[in-house]
Amino acid sequence: MSVRTACSLPRAARLRTPGSLRRWPSTTSSVQSARAFSTTLHRDATWGFVGLGQMGYNMAKNLRAKIPAADTLIIRDVNEETTKRFAAEAHEAARSADENRVEIAQNAREVAEKSTVMITSLPESQHVIDVFHSILKEGELPALEEERLFIDTSTIDPVTSKDIANAIHTTQAGRFVDAPVSGGVVGARAGTLSFMFGASSQTGQLLERVRGVLAHMGKKAWHLGEPGSGVSGKLANNYMLAINNIATAEAMNLGIRWGLDPKALAELINSSTGRCWPSEVNNPVPGVVESAPASRGYEGGFGVSLMNKDLRLALSAAEKSGTPLALGDQARQVYNAVEEAHRGKDFSVVYQWLQNKSE
Ligand code: NAD
Repeated sequence: MSVRTACSLPRAARLRTPGSLRRWPSTTSSVQSARAFSTTLHRDATWGFVGLGQMGYNMAKNLRAKIPAADTLIIRDVNEETTKRFAAEAHEAARSADENRVEIAQNAREVAEKSTVMITSLPESQHVIDVFHSILKEGELPALEEERLFIDTSTIDPVTSKDIANAIHTTQAGRFVDAPVSGGVVGARAGTLSFMFGASSQTGQLLERVRGVLAHMGKKAWHLGEPGSGVSGKLANNYMLAINNIATAEAMNLGIRWGLDPKALAELINSSTGRCWPSEVNNPVPGVVESAPASRGYEGGFGVSLMNKDLRLALSAAEKSGTPLALGDQARQVYNAVEEAHRGKDFSVVYQWLQNKSE
């Protein structure tokens, strides 16, 4: 079947159907044998970053600051203003014209062609599919000294992530690793993110290489298993976070309505079995934890829309794997309503929504 016929399929199906991969030009074995990689990063290497949003911009900035000054970072975002600003800031930070080189690519394929390591940070599964499809549909990538490493840090659904890994590996375009992040914009800015990644553990070299790259943007990296396991781990964690946040808001609301002092109640919970991140660090009651978003009008922090997106992904992944979730649908109804009422606020605003309901 021709590429044109393949492109008439729904995009997700094109990446998912192994048969469709055979429609893209395949690589030759001689090219493949030249692609063995070492963990040593070469000087004057080219790195790629696609998706310079709230997370990506800061991650790419840390990457640029930590890779050798003579290396090049090639960036791509659909928002031109963002890439221009990034390049201008890097140029300003450079001590000489030969340092901190940043190039702006016209499309993701150009980034993939030039980079030995390409990182993506995109909003949703469909954006990641679009980017990787645009790379693979043009056929074989030119050979580089090292095998290409694609690291997707977006939070997407595990099935899509596995499909993309499969497409990259089957076409022998390189290695694909899913490495979603925890730590938010603050962690991205400070370079203290935690990554959970899925990568074939057949070669220890690959894991070391991935850890080396992630260390430029974060502090911790857990290898959870084969491709797709990074996003699975992320969604399991965030499902629990979504529920813990509602439970904390409900328990605090309940205690306060019974006449308990909010700080005393939080202290008790945090020394007892109810303790969790929303109760201890991100307490939803204003004034209980001074550094929490609740104490500054629920500004900053982890947006309720992002929480709702991760919950949606977790529920859909649970359904695809036939896993029952007793609280999933109810939690989704809560976040849908809270998102509608308090869009843009930190997800702990669930407490304020409950309070409004109680009045
Ligand atoms: P964002 O929307 O701020 O940034 C996404 C960027 O991707 C934007 O700059 C957009 O222009 C760009 N983009 C979209 N389609 C593109 C394409 N086809 N080619 C090139 N660029 C494209 O999102 P974000 O908050 O930075 O989040 C990125 C990912 O990280 C998401 O999957 C999110 O769930 C996850 N995440 C976010 C946070 C957070 O606190 N923001 C925390 C953990 C994980």
